[in-house]
Amino acid sequence: MSTDEITDETIAEIEQELDDDGVWIDPAFARSQGISADDEARIEEAVAQTEQADLNVVLVEVSTDDERFQGSFGSLSAWIHDGRGGDATYVGWEAYGAPEVQVDAYGDQPDTTYVDNVAAHQAPDDLADQVVRIAEIIDDGNADRLWDEVPDDEKYYWTADEGVQASEVLGGLGVVAVLAALVAGVVVARRRRRARPTGFTLPTTVLHTIRSAEDRRLRQQADAKVLALGEAIGRGEPGGTASSLDAWQQALDHYAAARSILQQAAAPADVVGALVLARRGDDARATAERKEPAAWTPQPSCWFNPLHDGPTSEVVWRDDERQVDVPACTACAADVREGREPRDVLDFIEGDRTVHYYRLDLGAWTRTGYGALERDLLGALRSGAGRLRR
Ligand SMILES: [Zn+2]
Repeated sequence: MSTDEITDETIAEIEQELDDDGVWIDPAFARSQGISADDEARIEEAVAQTEQADLNVVLVEVSTDDERFQGSFGSLSAWIHDGRGGDATYVGWEAYGAPEVQVDAYGDQPDTTYVDNVAAHQAPDDLADQVVRIAEIIDDGNADRLWDEVPDDEKYYWTADEGVQASEVLGGLGVVAVLAALVAGVVVARRRRRARPTGFTLPTTVLHTIRSAEDRRLRQQADAKVLALGEAIGRGEPGGTASSLDAWQQALDHYAAARSILQQAAAPADVVGALVLARRGDDARATAERKEPAAWTPQPSCWFNPLHDGPTSEVVWRDDERQVDVPACTACAADVREGREPRDVLDFIEGDRTVHYYRLDLGAWTRTGYGALERDLLGALRSGAGRLRR
């Protein structure tokens, strides 16, 4: 991973290139991803031919050490867009989470909700192809239909095997105070990856092999996010006010809980929980470090899929069993308001089928909708720990 900051100078260079041919590719990124001069020319041509969007491509691995953008392509694209203005769509590399190609649209641009998913599905092994496909799909305007046509088995990766037991989660949270005191040490001594315990048997079919590869990808994503949070905490310092210190403690507690979950042989459902905790912890950390003191409250996440980003609004969700008011991200809320089930509900694989997470018994995760229905997710994990799991 690059440890370089993206400097003001580089930003100026990026803006210049975008004004010129709409494409800027960091040389180190091109080398590490095997993007050739021909690939770059193909991408430039695709961008030039795009008519429906003002398309821009910025390919660089944003380091988690970068103080301004903190590993987030979304932060970089927002910054660039702020500088350049207008209505524009940015394609980039999100290294902090997945990693994956990401599309951020600002202002009056075509809907790109499923564009990156479809492109990744069509060209999983070639990043340049993915970017070219993104340009084509945006112009064709058929991403929604194409994504609908992808079989569920190829969309949803995560198996619902057994994972963290209630007592383990409780035990993990019980040592929060100790872990918090040790944060500095934790940051220095990078944790070794743990192998699956011998009780875990890999599924045998090819499909299951793909799924377990995706389970590992999810796991790596969570590991990276929690590690990045630990490092940010290790470098950071809370403001001096009571609310800053409260927020800082929340960051420490969330970090410790997420880390504790990942130290066990966590099932995918728990790994998603660790990701949610790490995301909240990072939000608390950022609040604690803010110059103007502000109290931290967790932002509600999308009830249909806690991995969805962005602001939420309240919708009423009805299914056979119940009617509930839930927060939903923009895409899911739009589906619900049109009377449809959202297309990207968080699913796990149980046996041979995919099941919406909220129809599974995943203890506090399902009870709270991964914190969507209960702002105090840590509190819910602690108080409900005795009843978490079988
Ligand atoms: Zn959503």
